[in-house]
Amino acid sequence: MYDVTEVRKDFPILSREVNGKPLVYLDNGASAQKPQAVIDAVTRGYAEEYANVHRGLHYLSNLATEKYEGVRGIIARFLGVADEEQIVLNSGTTEGINTVAYGWAMPRMEAGDEIVLSVMEHHANIVPWHFLRERQGVQLKWVDIDSRGALDPQAVIDAIGPKTKLVAITHLSNVLGTVVDVKTIIDAAHEKGVAVLVDGSQSAVHMPVNLDALGADFYAITGHKLYGPSGSGAIFIKKDRLAEMRPFIGGGDMIREVHKDEVTYADPPMKFEAGTPGIVQTIGLGVALEYLMDLGMENVAAHEARLRDYARERLDGLNWLSVQGTTEDKAAIFSFTMNSAAHAHDISTILDKKGVAVRAGHHCAGPLMDFLGVTGTCRASFGLYNTEAEVDTLIDALELAHDLFG
Ligand code: PLP
Repeated sequence: MYDVTEVRKDFPILSREVNGKPLVYLDNGASAQKPQAVIDAVTRGYAEEYANVHRGLHYLSNLATEKYEGVRGIIARFLGVADEEQIVLNSGTTEGINTVAYGWAMPRMEAGDEIVLSVMEHHANIVPWHFLRERQGVQLKWVDIDSRGALDPQAVIDAIGPKTKLVAITHLSNVLGTVVDVKTIIDAAHEKGVAVLVDGSQSAVHMPVNLDALGADFYAITGHKLYGPSGSGAIFIKKDRLAEMRPFIGGGDMIREVHKDEVTYADPPMKFEAGTPGIVQTIGLGVALEYLMDLGMENVAAHEARLRDYARERLDGLNWLSVQGTTEDKAAIFSFTMNSAAHAHDISTILDKKGVAVRAGHHCAGPLMDFLGVTGTCRASFGLYNTEAEVDTLIDALELAHDLFG
């Protein structure tokens, strides 16, 4: 039984006030709050267990290395990956996708080759591909969503042509909450010999994921949305793809030998992990994922589905509000505009006065804003500790904003 009242006690920040009101944190899509276990792990990591990893022969370095390296296995377990050597540790999704763009796509794509993307992608899954467009003449092929914010997997499959080398697609939209049927896309792309990169930044937070079953070539996650520290994350890269990749960032830790006129590299995944990593952040991410696995991602998903249904019903009752993305298969993420054309920033400022934290703007999704014909939206994105009472507070605050902006 998922007891949200008990869960909330694990997150100290949720008991604070903002602008004299109890905090209602609905900006989880941008970054999630941290449970005490993660805060303790970070504090302990610096106060008692800190040293650099991998190179040391002393007690603290061995301890930090053991803890840091242990996270690879925790991430593998969380993502349903049997072979943890396919997990590359990094600072988050942005680094993960750039690792693939520079390490896999750049050396094997030439002018006229294509990358298929949806219009729902986050800039982290767009800009690295623009680099290839600008530098190598790679074509970006965009697939639209429908009027309900759903992405037809067949439309993505139909966009794959003889020159397509990669499909780069989100599993769950950070703006609309839309869940994408990536399994159908991956299976069809593989039949055509095309690799698939999935942006799992949002999906891994809201639903159970099993990557061995899913079969994606690349799957990026980011720690700070998973209730872990910022500056932590990972990308799953299939063994065959790892073998095809050249390293993206060069430096210490990723080498076997370095001489004046030659260098040899460590085996993957270390080959893709240059320099001193986010040691304590990664250890904190391991604790966050253990926390999520203890709660059970099925339970988290079921709780958030109840919140989504309740929030949808309440928001639908506001006939002066337009919710973007009404498809059934979505997470508890709601982007909206007011029909009075009140600016998203002004709405969020009013909500903030009531202690309600939402995000306003383009949400790093320029092509989606263009597609929707808006410059920005307000976004309420729910997490595992949110409640139906908080949905009610959001609605009350929106009604106040409506009264003010008419
Ligand atoms: N992709 C999606 C769907 C996101 O929501 C985000 C973060 O907002 C990112 C990628 C980028 O993640 P990060 O900034 O942690 O690298």
